[in-house]
Amino acid sequence: TVRTRIAPSPTGDPHVGTAYIALFNQCFAKAQGGQFVLRIEDTDQVRSTPESEKAILDSLRWLGLDWDEGPDVGGQHGPYRQSERADIYKKYCDVLLDAGKAFRCYRTAEELDMLRTQLREEGRTALKPSDLALPEEEVAKREAGGLPYVVRMVVPEEGTCVVEDLLRGTIEIDWGQVDAQVLLKSDGLPTYHLANVVDDHLMEITHVLRGEEWINSAPKHKLLYEYFGWDMPVLCHLPLLRNPDKSKLSKRKNPTSILYYQRMGFMPEAVMNYLGRMGWSMPDEREKFTLDEMLEAFDIQRVSLGGPVFDVEKLSWLNGMWVRELEQKQLADRLQQWLLNRDNLLKVLPHAQGRMETYSDFMPLVAFLASGNLPLTEESFASNKLPLDDQKKLLQFALWKLEVLRPWTKDAIFAEMKGLSKAMDIKLKDFNAPLFVAVSGTTSSFSVMDAMELLGPDLTRARLRFAVD
Ligand code: ATP
Ligand code: GLU
Repeated sequence: TVRTRIAPSPTGDPHVGTAYIALFNQCFAKAQGGQFVLRIEDTDQVRSTPESEKAILDSLRWLGLDWDEGPDVGGQHGPYRQSERADIYKKYCDVLLDAGKAFRCYRTAEELDMLRTQLREEGRTALKPSDLALPEEEVAKREAGGLPYVVRMVVPEEGTCVVEDLLRGTIEIDWGQVDAQVLLKSDGLPTYHLANVVDDHLMEITHVLRGEEWINSAPKHKLLYEYFGWDMPVLCHLPLLRNPDKSKLSKRKNPTSILYYQRMGFMPEAVMNYLGRMGWSMPDEREKFTLDEMLEAFDIQRVSLGGPVFDVEKLSWLNGMWVRELEQKQLADRLQQWLLNRDNLLKVLPHAQGRMETYSDFMPLVAFLASGNLPLTEESFASNKLPLDDQKKLLQFALWKLEVLRPWTKDAIFAEMKGLSKAMDIKLKDFNAPLFVAVSGTTSSFSVMDAMELLGPDLTRARLRFAVD
C-alpha cells in the first residue's frame, strides 16, 4: 500500500508551505487507499520547541488534515518524534561505520574553516572524505584525548548522481557538489539526512512528496539507501510557493504562518481549497472545491511545475465565496467561535470595562482586535513627535525584536520595547506612539502593550510589517 508522510521540524510558526505539502501527501495516499503519516523531525535540539510542535499539529488539524499515524495518534511504526529515536539512528550509524561507508571525523572548527577557504580558492564546492582525512596517528591521538567527533558519510569524489523524480523525470547532480555529509553530530544526535532516510525506511514510506528545496539532498539520500541495501521510496519534489513577485514565499512579503490566517478570520476550508490550487487544478478547472472533492479527483500528474503564486488577495476572494455560501446559522457559530466567545471576552474585559458606561461602548473599544489590516496612511503618524522616517525605523527595529519574542506576554513585550527605546535613546512615551498607531490605529485607548498582547503575535507582526512598508 501507498504510504506518504509529512515531516515538519518544530522550529517556528506553522508554515502554510507545510500545510500545502501535507495536503498533497494526504491526497496522494488517500486517493490510492493508502496511509498518511505525520512525523516530527526535532533533531535540532536548539531550535525545536514543544510549543512549535503543538502549534503545527493544531494548525494542521484546524485546516482539516488528518493523518493515520503520528505522535498524537500513535501507530505501528512509532515513536513518531525523532528525539525519541536517538538509539535507532545510532545503531544504523554504526552499521555504516562498520561497513566503511562512514567515518569518524575529528576535524576542529578552525580546521574546517581553513579547509573551506582552501576549497574556495581551488574553485571547488564540496568537502570530500579525502579533504577531511587525518594521518592515522593523529586520529588515534585525538581519539585517545577524548576529543569530540562527528560521523560523516563517504561520498564519491566525482561522477554524476542520477535520481528519478515522479514529476521531473531524471535529475542529474554532479557528485563534485556533494559534501561528505555529517550523519551524526558530536552530541550523538543524527542530522536530518540520516534520520530522514532511516525513518522513511522503518516507517515503510513508499512515496516522498516534499518541497523542491530538497532536490539537492536527494543524492545523499540515494547513497544512504544503497549503503543500507534498502529500496528507495519514489521521490516527488513539489514546486515551492511563491510571492506574487515570483520570489520564494517569505514572511517579509506575505504572512506565512497558518496562525495568521486563523487569527485573521479565514475559513480553514477556503485555505485548503486555495492550497489545493497551488500548482494543481480540478479536471473541470472549477475554483471552489472541498477537500473530499479534491481527493476524489486527485492525480499527481496534474501538478504543474511552474512556481505557484500564493496571493493573499486571491485567497481572500476565494474565502469570500466560502463565507457567503455558508448557512447563516453556521456563520453565526463560526463567528462566535472565532472571536466572540466567552474566553476571549474575559481576556478583553479587564481592559475595556473601566472605560465603559454602556454596553454600546464595548464594540468601538475592541474593534481593532477584530479588524484585519488597518487603513494606515502617513497622516496616521503625523501627530507623533518623531519625524516619520524615525518612526518607521523604530517600527522596523521593534518588528525584528518581536519576530523572535517568545513567549508572547505583556511583560516580555514591555521589557523588549523598553530595552529597544533605551538603545535608541528615545523616551518611552515617544517610542510607544508609533507602535500604538501601527498596532491599534488611533481609535482604542488600551495601553499599547495590552493591545499587542491581546492582538497576539501574528496580527501584531503583520500590522507592524504593514506599517513599515
Ligand atoms: P524563512 O522565512 O526564514 O526563509 P522558511 O520560509 O524557509 O524560512 P522554514 O521555517 O525554513 O521557513 O520552513 C518551514 C517549513 O515550510 C519547511 O517544511 C519548508 O519546507 C516549508 N516551506 C518554507 N517555504 C516554503 C515555500 N515557499 N513553499 C513550500 N513550502 C515551504
Ligand atoms: N524536516 C524536513 C522539513 O522541515 C522534512 C523534509 C522532507 O520532507 O524530507 O521540511
